[in-house]
Amino acid sequence: MQIVERPTSQGVREYEMLIGGEWVGSLSGKTLDSTNPFTGKAWATVQEAAAEDVDRAVKAARYAFDEGPWGKMTGTERARLLRKFAELLGENAEELAYVESTDNGKLLREMGAQMKGLPEWYYYFAGAADKVQGATIPSDKPNFFVYTRKEPIGVVGAITPWNSPLLLLSFKLAPALAAGCTFVVKPAEHTSASTLEFAKLFEEAGFPPGVFNVVTGYGGDAGAALTAHPGVDKVAFTGSTETGKLVMKSAADHLAKVTLELGGKSPNIVFDDADLEAASNGVVSGIFAATGQTCIAGSRLLVHRKAHDEVVERLSERAATIKLGDPLQTETEMGPSAFREQMDKVLNYIDIAKGEGAEVVSGGGRPAGDEVKDGFFVEPTIITGVDNEMRVAREEIFGPVLSVIPVESEEEIVRIANDTQYGLAAGVWTKDIQRAHRVAHALRAGTVWVNSYRTLSFNTPFGGYKTSGLGRENGLEAVEEYCETKAVWVELSGNTRDPFTLG
Ligand code: NAD
Repeated sequence: MQIVERPTSQGVREYEMLIGGEWVGSLSGKTLDSTNPFTGKAWATVQEAAAEDVDRAVKAARYAFDEGPWGKMTGTERARLLRKFAELLGENAEELAYVESTDNGKLLREMGAQMKGLPEWYYYFAGAADKVQGATIPSDKPNFFVYTRKEPIGVVGAITPWNSPLLLLSFKLAPALAAGCTFVVKPAEHTSASTLEFAKLFEEAGFPPGVFNVVTGYGGDAGAALTAHPGVDKVAFTGSTETGKLVMKSAADHLAKVTLELGGKSPNIVFDDADLEAASNGVVSGIFAATGQTCIAGSRLLVHRKAHDEVVERLSERAATIKLGDPLQTETEMGPSAFREQMDKVLNYIDIAKGEGAEVVSGGGRPAGDEVKDGFFVEPTIITGVDNEMRVAREEIFGPVLSVIPVESEEEIVRIANDTQYGLAAGVWTKDIQRAHRVAHALRAGTVWVNSYRTLSFNTPFGGYKTSGLGRENGLEAVEEYCETKAVWVELSGNTRDPFTLG
């Protein structure tokens, strides 16, 4: 993809919300600013939705599901629309990447690649749309024909975070559309612009009104109203574990189904027999790519004592040369934190680590230099001497901070790796193939990479163990998350049955 450079100050963009096929303002008339984290200035305004706006959106989605043409379409027809939408996403990847980077400060390099890959989600799930099928059950009762139908759950209420808004939305939307659901999304308040640009393309693809609706605003208002709305049949959430718990409680009040993609404190494990150059590169990718603002960040490095010094030296050398700067420039390797509070939180964790007796061997503060002075930057930071009981080893920092824990035996490594409330991902670096599989099987995590880190695909299930989540996104099983199974019993004999017995 060609990466274009554009001025970062283009004037402030103003966005409305898409509800029932119409672009509308919030009923309160309130808006909120979206800040470019590189310049620290507002670059867009979005509507601040309240419960009444959410109600409008859920009703529009309900109408589209129950009464509109969408509910009557075959999977083949839905697939056609999904493919058309995928095409449009591909044609507009560059613009979407630009909006994502401007909104959340992630590298245009990274967002460009993400947006180029985004259509694949819709092509893949278009392929699934006409294969959402039940089964015929060999009945254990004479004279019955029994079969199941996979039916769409109904209205989905989705909530997404700020770190990869469109990718994480697509994890939910593509399988939901394949299943035949309708959808209301509330993106993160810091990064709603890309979802609204995406919604324009959705309309252009020709989906009936109300199939996809966007409400923007704060989590505690619009987000909470969406998860609590009795018209929402299924809540699909990505965000922090703490918010995930609130979302689940709220959904429980009306017994909506939930999938949750939550936080992580993933171990990246380097054995002493690993290719240490490749492993160090993988550790850098795991924690410094995307400024560490990914749920799968390999934020705990568990390195064998024999390899510890060499790995730390390699990492420190590389960390010192990581090019910080404008996310829109192709040579930049690490951008700013997405917003000021996030930067402050990361810096505070570095102080906590020092207070707990760990040692900062690389980075540790805000970088100097004219180019980065206005942005919410934190240096790539490496902390050694970390014990797995320390807060920097237990709590998700969501920034470019690596906690290095020296370890020894395979047994100890697995124990420490699993000694966390989270279970989203893990990396294992070793040349011993038996050990690689042994450790991969022993880790309590939804994804394990062997001699690699930070890869995922539309066709491979993704999700968390323990407090990292509930359910799976991506892969064919994701469609199941948006389906109800109905059993249909057809009596074949025409005889009258005993009304007082079950059977
Ligand atoms: P967050 O939980 O603060 O916010 C996520 C979303 O929830 C936002 O849209 C927010 O407005 C909304 N929200 C906040 N309070 C709410 C409430 N009471 N009811 C309903 N919605 C509410 O998370 P964040 O800071 O935006 O994102 C970072 C977190 O997301 C990290 O913990 C990260 O690990 C996690 N994450 C997980 C995955 C994954 O797939 N597992 C992917 C990306 C990010």
